[in-house]
Amino acid sequence: MKIVRFVYRGEPRYGLLNSDQIEVIHNLPFDEVDVTGVSVALSKVELLSPVDPSKIIAIGLNYRDHAKELDLEMPTEPCLFLKPTSSLIGSGNAIVYPEATGQVDFEAELVIVIRKAARCIKSEDAADYIFGYTCGNDVTARDIQKKDEQWTRAKGFDTFCPVGPHIETELDTSNIYVRSRLNGEIRQDGSTKEMVFDVFDLVSYISEVMTLYPGDIIFTGTPFGVGSMSPGDTIEVEIEGVGSLINKIEQ
Ligand code: MG
Repeated sequence: MKIVRFVYRGEPRYGLLNSDQIEVIHNLPFDEVDVTGVSVALSKVELLSPVDPSKIIAIGLNYRDHAKELDLEMPTEPCLFLKPTSSLIGSGNAIVYPEATGQVDFEAELVIVIRKAARCIKSEDAADYIFGYTCGNDVTARDIQKKDEQWTRAKGFDTFCPVGPHIETELDTSNIYVRSRLNGEIRQDGSTKEMVFDVFDLVSYISEVMTLYPGDIIFTGTPFGVGSMSPGDTIEVEIEGVGSLINKIEQ
C-alpha cells in the first residue's frame, strides 16, 4: 500500500494512493486502512508530509561508506539525535535557506514509520512495529553543525525535514538504493546494505530509550556523497521501491 497525507476540504487527511487517485480513509491508517468510498485525483490535492509524528529521531553516521568519506571511526552503537516536528515539510514544499548559515547540505535517507507503540522491543520483533517507509532529507547547516557542540540548531531550522511523498508499507530494506539528485544530477547513490545498523536494530535500540508511537519517524542515516545546496536548486531524494521526494531551495 501507498499512504499519503493531503489537504481535503481544508483539513489534513490520510489516503490510499492507487496510481493517480487517492481514496480518502477514515482516521489514522496505522491499525487498519478504512476507506470512506470518496476518491480524489492526486493532481488536484496538496500533499503534506505523509505523517504527523510525535517525534522525529535521526541516526548520525550509519553507512560505512559515509563514515569513510568523513574519515570517522565506525560507530559501535547508533548515534541518536532529534529533529523538531516544526522542521517537517512535504514533497513539493520549499526548503528555506536561513540567514544564519553559509552551508546547507542535503542528506538522502530511508525513513522508518512506526505502526504501534514500541517500548523495549527486540530486533527480531521489530518488523511488527514498522508501518512502512518513506524518503527523507536530513537537511543540515554544516557550518553550524561543526561550530555547535549539539546538532539541534544545525538540523532543526524550519523546513529542514522534508519527508514523503508517500509511505510504502511493503518494502524489503536489506539492499535498495538511496539516491539524491541535485538539479537532476546524481550526487548520492548508496545502498542500504552499507548500513551499520539495520532498520530492525534501530527500532529496537531506540525503543530501549524512548517509547515510539504510531506515526513516529526514524531517519536511518545517509550514504556517501553529501553536498551543499543553494537557493534556486532542486533536490530530489529517490529510494528504490518507494518514490521521489522533491524540494526546491528558496532564500
Ligand atoms: Mg543524517
